[in-house]
Amino acid sequence: MLTDNHGRNINYLRLAVTDRCNLRCFYCMPEEGLKWLQREELMTYEEMLQICSLLVKMGIEKIRITGGEPFVRKDMMQFLSALSKVSGLKELAITTNGVLTAPLVPDLKKLGVRSVNLSLDTLDANRFFAITHRDEFANVMQTLEELLRHDIEVKINAVVMDGKNTQDIIPMVEMTKDMPVSMRFIEEMPFNGEGHVYNGLKWDYIRIMDEIKEKYPDIQRLQDSPSSTSYNYHIPGHKGDVGVIAAYSRTFCGTCNRIRITPEGVLKTCLYDGGVMNIKDLIRSGASDGELQTKLLEAFGNRPKDGREAEQHRNINDPAHESMATIGG
Ligand code: SAM
Ligand code: SF4
Repeated sequence: MLTDNHGRNINYLRLAVTDRCNLRCFYCMPEEGLKWLQREELMTYEEMLQICSLLVKMGIEKIRITGGEPFVRKDMMQFLSALSKVSGLKELAITTNGVLTAPLVPDLKKLGVRSVNLSLDTLDANRFFAITHRDEFANVMQTLEELLRHDIEVKINAVVMDGKNTQDIIPMVEMTKDMPVSMRFIEEMPFNGEGHVYNGLKWDYIRIMDEIKEKYPDIQRLQDSPSSTSYNYHIPGHKGDVGVIAAYSRTFCGTCNRIRITPEGVLKTCLYDGGVMNIKDLIRSGASDGELQTKLLEAFGNRPKDGREAEQHRNINDPAHESMATIGG
């Protein structure tokens, strides 16, 4: 079992496989996109498999593939197939915007992917366009349908943005009446690649829940799983659940079980740190698995207590505003 210097178990890796994306969610990146990484700057699939296999041997049980949009990277399904065979890996999950995903769902099911997080911030096609700058609402809804048809567990992630989609909160909660999905509302974070000025948070998890409780006074609090980042609820009679993720308020750091690797191979031991080592550079300089393991254990032994401490340790010229597409969410 892997533990950090604060006694927290580390068993979950979020691997961002690309910074590129086919949407331009304004809370994530500017409309013109990011200064995309060049191919040689990205970890290769071989490098990713090497580090994933090592981390699984060290104690990682669950890997989530994220990005950018994972499915815009060429040969992603072949990579997922190889990853699904890593011995000892208990769970392979994916976070996707759903634009290209619908036709891939049967193959994802065959690979043993049991749960997918689908990002969807609104149920209105015009608002979808205003938020993402792309006309892809119908494709995302089709992905949702396909996932449910294939009995894949779906968590829908919606970032709550003042003045953009707060009118969607109740209709999206209402969706859980007939759909067995977990509808999760996320506080907006400053990681927008400077796509827009971040004016602080108007809709924190308390305000989001107040809005929901006003409409559903009989909503019940569920027991959260250990290391859950969401506070979870159930409305009697509904098939699905509702959750809120206090990503900005950072209420979940005390049980954080996750590490992140960016598309460039940078290890982050906290969402809010600026990156603690570059795994790709180590692999390319010829480091053995033993040497990599030593460096990784050193990094896990120096984890910040929480997101506030991680943010304080960032370089003053490097405030927390990089794009979520290079972090992976
Ligand atoms: N492209 C995929 C997608 O959108 O699902 C995977 C990567 S995306 C960066 C992962 C998650 O981060 C998404 O659910 C997205 O809504 C969330 N996210 C991106 N920027 C965010 C921000 N500024 N605040 C809160 N969540 C954000
Ligand atoms: Fe793309 Fe996901 Fe970022 Fe939206 S949140 S721009 S879909 S990476």
